[in-house]
Amino acid sequence: MPEDASLPFYSAHELMALGRRGQQAPPCSHCGALACAGWESVPGGFDAAQLRCLGTLRPAGDEDPTLLEYHPHGTHAWSADAPIAPGWFPYNRCDVWACTTCERPYLRYTEYGGYYTDPRIRALHPDLVVTEESGG
Ligand SMILES: [Zn+2]
Repeated sequence: MPEDASLPFYSAHELMALGRRGQQAPPCSHCGALACAGWESVPGGFDAAQLRCLGTLRPAGDEDPTLLEYHPHGTHAWSADAPIAPGWFPYNRCDVWACTTCERPYLRYTEYGGYYTDPRIRALHPDLVVTEESGG
């Protein structure tokens, strides 16, 4: 993950607009394996050069964003229909990426466990983006 503080920050509304544009075409053969509705571990052997970083959801200057998740409708972190809630975990640690071939947008973050790191990816589905003020 880039740690470049100069990455443009995406608001929830910008994220939704980006997602809308990205849904106009089906995923291409390069990123089709990534077009998962819920979070997935990035498949081993995936060529990361297929994606380029557009921006970030990490709040500038917030060194320790909340670990609370936002699931008002009984979803859980891995649900295919879990809200994409900027300001809540793990979206407050995500960067925004797009396929270099078809422009389909994705979210990525790295899960840090006690003994492992797990790069994860989720397709950016515009209908799941939560646009009201949020954050714990
Ligand atoms: Zn693609």
